Amino acid sequence: MKTIIEDMTTGIQAAGIARAGKILRNGGLVAFPTETVYGLGANALDEKAAAKIYAAKGRPSDNPLIVHIAETEALEEIVVQVPEAARQLARAFWPGPLTMIFRKNDRVPYGTTGGLDTVAVRMPDHEIAREMIRAGGGYIAAPSANTSGRPSPTTAAHVADDLWGRIDMIIDGGSVGIGLESTIVDLSGETPVILRPGYINQEMLQSVIGTVEMDKGLIAADSSVRPKAPGMKYKHYAPKAELVIIEGKAGTVVDKINKLIAEGEKKGEMIGVIGTDETRDAYRGGIVKSIGSIHEELTISQHLYGILREFDELAVTKIYSEAFDTPKMGQAIMNRLIKAAGHQIWKV
Ligand code: AMP
Ligand code: MG
Repeated sequence: MKTIIEDMTTGIQAAGIARAGKILRNGGLVAFPTETVYGLGANALDEKAAAKIYAAKGRPSDNPLIVHIAETEALEEIVVQVPEAARQLARAFWPGPLTMIFRKNDRVPYGTTGGLDTVAVRMPDHEIAREMIRAGGGYIAAPSANTSGRPSPTTAAHVADDLWGRIDMIIDGGSVGIGLESTIVDLSGETPVILRPGYINQEMLQSVIGTVEMDKGLIAADSSVRPKAPGMKYKHYAPKAELVIIEGKAGTVVDKINKLIAEGEKKGEMIGVIGTDETRDAYRGGIVKSIGSIHEELTISQHLYGILREFDELAVTKIYSEAFDTPKMGQAIMNRLIKAAGHQIWKV
């Protein structure tokens, strides 16, 4: 298949949006930027189109897709009922990086929801994304535009690396703003539950609707408790090299990682390190990459997946990462990092 690139890095282009819309209405696949990560879009109401997403990504068929809309009113058309809490959250955070789970109606095929009676819906805060959704018919199913198991794409180049020749179009809108997937909240039970942490954190949600719990499957130290979002059970974002998180006081962490670099290099291994602008110069040897300043959490979230991809290009055998327990996004950042590390955290 021929993949077309639409360059919108300097601004949205009406003709390109029209071409994307036509592809989507004809059942094709378009990768597009959002404020979280790049998505791989298809018509959510067309089962055959949705099936192409699974094929292109190599995604397990029981892992449901998020349906993206451009108008709040579009929600009523695809769900059985909109609970009051969802209306409040939509008013507070849509358009934005928040996905909510609803009971689906018959318009949404099971091929989009991985066989579930519920559907995940989000309205992205990105002009290109919203115009493309409108042009494509209003309901665009879109998971992250990566090959299953690789880090989510935060640039159009990441999408091309994974999906070139497998999809119809990539809209290049430059680097994304947040870099981590949306927060997912399930409102179908008595108490709202966070199924996946993201930029919209527990405190922000609670300030609007009161008590919100974290899915037990997310907090468990090991992977023995099954998370409620089907996709969260898969080993995601795993870099090729073994990744270990070293957690503790800043100075102690640097000392420990320096020891590990020395030991590794003595054995002839190439060691990767993920540090910050504040610590990078304190490392002796290894290939050190800074994720940004520890005081700028949005920079950290933006860079995480890109750094994991960069290490995949290098012949490192081990990567040691500092922990990034930042105040607002720490939970989301560490959730992704811990999964990438296959739960390997050493406390020092
Ligand atoms: P991705 O779009 O690649 O970020 O993945 C979508 C995530 O949303 C996966 O973790 C899915 O399991 C989750 N998800 C989508 N639909 C539902 C649903 N109806 N119920 C629970 N989780 C869902
Ligand atoms: Mg994904």
